[in-house]
Amino acid sequence: MLMRLLGTGNAPQIPVYGCRCRACSRARVDENFRRRPASAEIQTSQGRFLLDAGRTDLADWVDPTSLQGIVLTHYHMDHVAGLFHLRWGAVDPIPVFGPPDPQGCDDLHTHSGCLDFSHTLTAYEPRVLSDELTVIPVPIKHSKMTFGYVLKGRRESVVYLSDCDGIGPESMACIQAAEPKVVIVDCTYPPGPARNHLSLDRAVELHRELKAPWLYLTHIGHDLENHLMDQPLPADGQIIVARDGMTLTID
Ligand SMILES: [Zn+2]
Ligand SMILES: [Zn+2]
Ligand SMILES: [Zn+2]
Repeated sequence: MLMRLLGTGNAPQIPVYGCRCRACSRARVDENFRRRPASAEIQTSQGRFLLDAGRTDLADWVDPTSLQGIVLTHYHMDHVAGLFHLRWGAVDPIPVFGPPDPQGCDDLHTHSGCLDFSHTLTAYEPRVLSDELTVIPVPIKHSKMTFGYVLKGRRESVVYLSDCDGIGPESMACIQAAEPKVVIVDCTYPPGPARNHLSLDRAVELHRELKAPWLYLTHIGHDLENHLMDQPLPADGQIIVARDGMTLTID
């Protein structure tokens, strides 16, 4: 099973519209440094699932014959914006798995088109999505009802935590029990005060608590990107700054 990160930026993305900072200027001239809104895909031998759908160009290139479902962490616009176009697709209903949030985002639930939002998940209850993929929703702290996910393959697990402003003890225990090889975590801000998202110092702290071999940082804002241009992370292989297009395997 292959997981591909399609969007590793926060809501403003990088480059931020009109911003002339170093990180945004670099991203304008070098596509490799662009960061699009939160989106990922998980490819199994039978098809693929989207994990969050913040990119607004999904309908241009996600093959409708291979799309088996969409898993959402929460209903903030930068995680669901791509669904506003996809929903009018001329395709069979696409199951959407997400947290219990009756409000959803704008009119997605009342005008759902081909998207079937009835597949609400329950915290800590594993849901088998295919022979190769089971997801376990873990509630995490954020400004809206939000699930992180343990993504279980046949032998390995990866944990996806975007967006995140901390993790309570029950979710922490659930994540640790899965012994993930990689934890992908919201790291929107440089070290210092932060609201609703993690800053770099808190992400590092979380890494120490979780004790997973690898931590990937995602949901990155331009202030953190500028910080990392001056003070790169220690190259000890423990913490990796994710990039759009980065892939990892889950056996
Ligand atoms: Zn900028
Ligand atoms: Zn959010
Ligand atoms: Zn977000």
